[in-house]
Amino acid sequence: MREVQFDQESEVHEGKGRNTELGIVTYTFVFLFLMLAGYLIYLNVFKAKELNSNMYNTKQDANIDKYIRGPILSADGSVLAETRVGDDGSETRVYPYANTFAHVIGYATNGKAGLEASCNYDLLDSHASVLTQLKESDNEKQMGDSVIVTLNASLQNAAYQALGGYNGAVVALEPKTGKILAMVSKPDYDPNSIAEIWESVVTDSSSSVLLNRATQGLYPPGSTFKILTTLAFMRQQPNAYKTFDFTCDSRLTVGDMTINCYNNNAHGEEDLKGAFAHSCNTAFAKIGLSLDNDEFHSMCEEFLFNKSLPTALQHSTSQFVLDGDSSDGEEMTTAIGQGNTLVTPLHMALITATVANGGIMMKPYLVDHVEASDGSMVTKNSPSKYKRLMTTEEARIITDFMKETVASGTATALNGYGFTAAGKTGSAEYGANGTEGTHSWFVGFSNVDDPDLVVAVIAEDGGTGSQTAVPIAASVFQAYYSIKQS
Ligand SMILES: [Zn+2]
Repeated sequence: MREVQFDQESEVHEGKGRNTELGIVTYTFVFLFLMLAGYLIYLNVFKAKELNSNMYNTKQDANIDKYIRGPILSADGSVLAETRVGDDGSETRVYPYANTFAHVIGYATNGKAGLEASCNYDLLDSHASVLTQLKESDNEKQMGDSVIVTLNASLQNAAYQALGGYNGAVVALEPKTGKILAMVSKPDYDPNSIAEIWESVVTDSSSSVLLNRATQGLYPPGSTFKILTTLAFMRQQPNAYKTFDFTCDSRLTVGDMTINCYNNNAHGEEDLKGAFAHSCNTAFAKIGLSLDNDEFHSMCEEFLFNKSLPTALQHSTSQFVLDGDSSDGEEMTTAIGQGNTLVTPLHMALITATVANGGIMMKPYLVDHVEASDGSMVTKNSPSKYKRLMTTEEARIITDFMKETVASGTATALNGYGFTAAGKTGSAEYGANGTEGTHSWFVGFSNVDDPDLVVAVIAEDGGTGSQTAVPIAASVFQAYYSIKQS
């Protein structure tokens, strides 16, 4: 744009001869110089953080001789990671909670992972006042900045205990702010001994112990996906969904595909709310057959399938492949969350949070603020909106269906705890033709009239959602309210 302006200027002053040409040359050089300077400033100041945190940037540990890696603290003040300096000056990174925060906090030796990777630049920098730095100077090395995360140590602990011996993940976040309060992944490891166990964990590909299943695990969503099938139905057939009337006799066969309801239950006559609450597969397979696949596909992409989530956290991309060329069988299986759809637990938590937050998805985040060793604030994150993805009316109707699921459907185990809840279970079959096993899912939120917590649970091979994931979620909600009261 500027170059064009200069050209125009040269036309205006055309009659003035050599002086103008010199002027143009000067302008051009000044312009190029400013461009270059601007670029360097951009790289050094604005991009520095990104460049320095890049795992492959060999300069990332350049500050290691200047600063002691700063601590990572939970929102409720617990030390999650800190560097202890021995009498001989040796530094040891210590994780007081060992396995409980393994994936989300990560590790800082043998490469870096989790927050140790994404906050590397902050931890190896100091914004303490000169006075503080002088005071500390007999130590030679300065203490790096502290990262204070949104995680609540007590809630994380409760979620870790609740998942018990299952492999899988638990994500708990605030729907109104996007703050992540707990993020558990199992199998886990002790980051204190990452160096010693490194060989075995990187060679053991069967359990992928280093994988943060909450953000990187891709699972069939099972019936939790009926939240989006319902929304697609409401949007595509704004009158038909209100009068939906279906009689379930436990199975539906179209071509060579048969869809069964769980345990071959015949749900009988039901409206959409009833079909949702009882998680009736045949009703939803029928709905799937009536949907326009391309519209369904673009709606799911608005909900970030086949896309990155609005977060700096390292994560896998969820997958939705149904389109206009798909078969009836694919339509039926996709509508009930089977087929080729894959989702991460964090993504499923965000979709649920969108319902809980009246249709607006907030960006999820883990770092609350960074402060210097003298307590001064370096950077502070605040809640930020990703996008409105549903109308308030759509969110209200889906909330009503999710309430019914707790009142009379597959999540009744959430009753009687002194808080209200809304949710959706899932029993996701996996393997060829769903023959290998069933993952147990639950997504939902509590304090339904003014939602304050979303919980997403997946327990691998846990059986049905009601059986395993719902009681795990109940423990997390319970812990949340008991922490709040204390
Ligand atoms: Zn049924």
